[in-house]
Amino acid sequence: MIEIKKDKKRVFLETYGCQMNEYDTELVKSILAKENYSFTKNEHEADIIMLNTCAVRENAHRKVYGRVHEILHRRREENKLQGAPVLNAPAPQGHRATGELATPRKPIIGILGCMATNLRQELFENRNLKIDFIAGPDSYKRLPDLIREAQGGEKSFDLTLSEFETYSDVYPARKEGINAWIAIMRGCNNFCTFCVVPYTRGRERSRSVENIVEEVRRLADDGFKQVTLLGQNVNSYRHEEQDFAYLLEEVAKINGIERVRFTSPHPKDFPDRVIDAIASNPKLCKQLHVPMQSGNDRVLDVMNRTYTQKEYLDLIEKMRKKIPGVALSTDVIVGFPTETDAEFEDTYNVMKTVEFDSAFIFKYSERKNTIAAKKFPDDIPEAVKTERIVRLNELQKAHSLKRNRAHIGSVEKVLVEAEATAKSEKHQRDEIQARADNNKIVIIPAGTAKLGDFLNVRITDATTYVLKGELI
Ligand code: SF4
Repeated sequence: MIEIKKDKKRVFLETYGCQMNEYDTELVKSILAKENYSFTKNEHEADIIMLNTCAVRENAHRKVYGRVHEILHRRREENKLQGAPVLNAPAPQGHRATGELATPRKPIIGILGCMATNLRQELFENRNLKIDFIAGPDSYKRLPDLIREAQGGEKSFDLTLSEFETYSDVYPARKEGINAWIAIMRGCNNFCTFCVVPYTRGRERSRSVENIVEEVRRLADDGFKQVTLLGQNVNSYRHEEQDFAYLLEEVAKINGIERVRFTSPHPKDFPDRVIDAIASNPKLCKQLHVPMQSGNDRVLDVMNRTYTQKEYLDLIEKMRKKIPGVALSTDVIVGFPTETDAEFEDTYNVMKTVEFDSAFIFKYSERKNTIAAKKFPDDIPEAVKTERIVRLNELQKAHSLKRNRAHIGSVEKVLVEAEATAKSEKHQRDEIQARADNNKIVIIPAGTAKLGDFLNVRITDATTYVLKGELI
């Protein structure tokens, strides 16, 4: 028999999607902890289950819907065991319609994040989903109220998009560790036609340099060695007269923080000052993620990326010239509506030219409410998308292996960031995971170091995904 808990403040929180969502989960935990909510890793003992969702890819939607159905099924079973009136029993007067439980349901279910704003109507109107509360990315301070209302039997929601909310007054409840994520801005003004972010996270707004620096100082005091600055388009960071290059320099000045990374910049406005700062400041990591999306000018134009293939290649050339040894990664979408075979070949050829260190390659999937969804039918057959992604993945694997193998024999300064916990291609149980300045994972034998150590390691081997090394 499952025990009935009296405390109604135990939260199970699951996160989907990008680092910004991981960071938002830390904000939510901090906001709720102040109201005496506690957190559990065991969803079976939770009174409140929240899914912090992502709307960027179709499979993220599917996963969340699948998860909600799984939770609902379990909730029905547990309520039956606890003697609550069962589904389809006649509803007592004053209670909800037939098909729902007459006693307060446990646990209540909330949807947070981008999917909440993107699919608000569907989430509430789909009676099978039975969502109790919904909060968009700018409404997390209202969560205690929304939860109270939902526990009182109301469906509650707040999907307001703010022009000002940056949560600069909330210190995220982070796990102890080596790297801390820190959002320096929220939202995006770029309106790439395939992307939901401007609609789900609103307009771009930046935190002040002072506020960010203060948080990073606190992180250094808490033992973090590395910070990763987050934003949908970090290089358009601006607060009053201060820009992203200035922010990078200020963050790098903080004692105790040894490495500064950021993600993601947009190729359209990558200032020379940022490139120069990375080239000259040893704390700014020599690794850049430069989302390309397509290598064809017409496709880039219909995606509203506002740069051409040539401009992109010139930027890559400049980065490599000014920052010798910089590691480059990218994002690519294949099968964007109307993309012809010849246009796809342009993407293939740009990847062949650049030879990225790594790449995240996706098939186009239509997202509701985007410009692409309104203007362009998703007309590339699935088989063609598959053929294109397979070709790019094969090419990229060869490049990743080649670039990784080029490090064999070199000495890298690595930061130990995790103990290997599972046997996999990446690491064995008796190995630990470290990371080089260029963001490549380096596997070294266990017993030689502990978490947070900086070590000089000679690279002895490499696979497509990792470097292997020995302590010197
Ligand atoms: S830059 Fe484009 S892809 Fe990136 S978040 Fe903004 S709209 Fe989306």
